[in-house]
Amino acid sequence: MPKSPIKVLCIAGARPNFPKIAPLMRVLNASSYFDARLVHTGQHYDDALSRVFFEDLQIPKPDLDLEVGSASHAVQTAEIMKRFEPVLQKEQPQAVIVVGDVNSTIACALVASKYQLEEPFAWHGKERLRPVMIHVEAGLRSFDEDMPEEINRRLTDAISDLLFVTEADAQENLKNEGVDGERVHFVGNVMIDTLLAARKEAMKSNILSVLGLEKGKYALLTLHRPSNVDNLQVLGGIMEALDEIARETPVVFPVHPRTRPLVQGAGIDLSSERWKLIEPVGYLDFLKLMSCAHIMITDSGGIQEETTVLGVPCMTLRENTERPVTVKEGTNMLVKPSQGAILQAWQRINTDPPRGKVPKYWDGLAADRIVSVLANEFGVLN
Ligand code: UDP
Repeated sequence: MPKSPIKVLCIAGARPNFPKIAPLMRVLNASSYFDARLVHTGQHYDDALSRVFFEDLQIPKPDLDLEVGSASHAVQTAEIMKRFEPVLQKEQPQAVIVVGDVNSTIACALVASKYQLEEPFAWHGKERLRPVMIHVEAGLRSFDEDMPEEINRRLTDAISDLLFVTEADAQENLKNEGVDGERVHFVGNVMIDTLLAARKEAMKSNILSVLGLEKGKYALLTLHRPSNVDNLQVLGGIMEALDEIARETPVVFPVHPRTRPLVQGAGIDLSSERWKLIEPVGYLDFLKLMSCAHIMITDSGGIQEETTVLGVPCMTLRENTERPVTVKEGTNMLVKPSQGAILQAWQRINTDPPRGKVPKYWDGLAADRIVSVLANEFGVLN
């Protein structure tokens, strides 16, 4: 056993990172083999997209806050890199964990994978000077390089030592890219660890009565992918279809900050009764809203997985998904973001809703599996 615990820096920066990092921090902190520190890059920094998650998910306060804020992809990625290098200098971690596919993921992975520590440590029987790079939620591929996240995923996987995957397709993608199978571990889904742990608490939320909603009698909508909201023609078609749906069932729309100004220009009367536009809500309120919705309509990555576990039909307004298990086994349907396709899918959901099962290892124990693999890889269990 090593003299001192293995120091691990866990990186979180944006809304979808927080539910992924929460169970990892919890399990790492419960182990005497690891000393985990949390770095918040500040890619998302406002209360609605960041602070509320720390409260709802009881994530410890970040040990380090890089406060990068918003900027273009290049500026933001570069700024995270500049601010993360001194953190490595100060902390000297033996491992860095990144999750998901945001700019913080690739920026910190790139810095850590080239960083030389002051003291070597033992890794697979040799001395090593670079922190071990760990990517959680590796191998997902939309095969759509117009999606900034796809670039982040591919590059992060290419420079990570250990790749933890959520579904069999991700394992297959890495194999097809020639990645050595010894680096890849199919462990399940840390985001689902969080969902299952928070479900009971979430059901206590009073968000339905606050918004005047009835269980099973509303659609829940999120939209933020550039391919849907940056092109006014595409956005206009989506919003017209949704406005028709709203005539049958109210549409609750927690509007992402990047979407709000765009959606207001789409020519739909969003102040009408049938629309409920609200600010993004906290994790527990959102989980309650998803659990009780008639249907989820989204272009999010993680929400496709969450609705699959909840058994709620999900219309994903995208041409592709990096999470195919949610379509093959879960309740997700890929729907072209056009007026006709959305209305057709709406009919299908009302007559023959997708039914699914929970994918393998999405059982609340993914973070435990990851930490067991890490203990084994670092030789602390020998
Ligand atoms: N989410 C939330 N409040 C909202 C909208 C989403 O708590 O108003 C949660 C959602 O349950 C999921 C995460 O935010 O856990 C997904 O984030 P997002 O859709 O921004 O990112 P993506 O998954 O597309 O990368």
